[in-house]
Amino acid sequence: MIVRKSKTELEAMAEGGRITAACLKLLEENVRPGVTTRELDRLAEEFIYDRGGKPEFKGYQGFPASICASPNAMIVHGIPGSYRLKTGDIISLDVGVRYEGFVTDSATTVPVGHVPDEVVRLLGTTRECLAAATDQMRAGKRLGDVGHAIQSLAESRGYGVVRDLVSHGVGRQMHEDPQIPNYGSPGTGPRLLPGMTFAIEPMITLGDYDIRLSEWDGWSIYTADGSLSAHFENTIAVTENGPLVLTENGGSGG
Ligand code: MG
Ligand code: MG
Repeated sequence: MIVRKSKTELEAMAEGGRITAACLKLLEENVRPGVTTRELDRLAEEFIYDRGGKPEFKGYQGFPASICASPNAMIVHGIPGSYRLKTGDIISLDVGVRYEGFVTDSATTVPVGHVPDEVVRLLGTTRECLAAATDQMRAGKRLGDVGHAIQSLAESRGYGVVRDLVSHGVGRQMHEDPQIPNYGSPGTGPRLLPGMTFAIEPMITLGDYDIRLSEWDGWSIYTADGSLSAHFENTIAVTENGPLVLTENGGSGG
């Protein structure tokens, strides 16, 4: 069942979304060669608690940290640790905040120093995919329209769209119904209604879309072919006035 949120509930989510967005912005500002992903995790955790939120990822099915930090060919769910960012890396940073009972979930992928043009284009396209999906999030549209917007743009430029990881409903739970593939056919799937809230998160690769789970930590998910992957995510509400992005951070994001 897709849970619809009341106006008051959406206001709470919008407040939480501002904390999530500001946290991501802080992380972006601190991405530089030499910083470890653990340092970024600590910054985020402190920031979220200071704002009266709770880092939703920490303890989620045993996840040991407050953010996910996934460099290069790692797509998502990287555990922050001793990895030190270096020039030429890209790093996906994913933040989930619980505030007044509601979760907002957002991610960005940031270049570390100078990266090659083809990587800049990958980041730009993934961001555009999220924007194209967002534009479909209007009452009366269907979830297949959202997935199709991502897939058609990414594939038209020769990129892979990760299929085994999905966008999702979000609200009182981080993962609510439905699961939303980042690919699909227009005019299919559940119809969008005001009050629905979704975390839309295209994961786009320079290569193929097959994935590989790290056997070493049981969390990190990589592209199977080792190609670079970019990941952008916003929590978005469907309203009577169109899509409302609850985690707009206004940062550079690469
Ligand atoms: Mg996320
Ligand atoms: Mg998510």
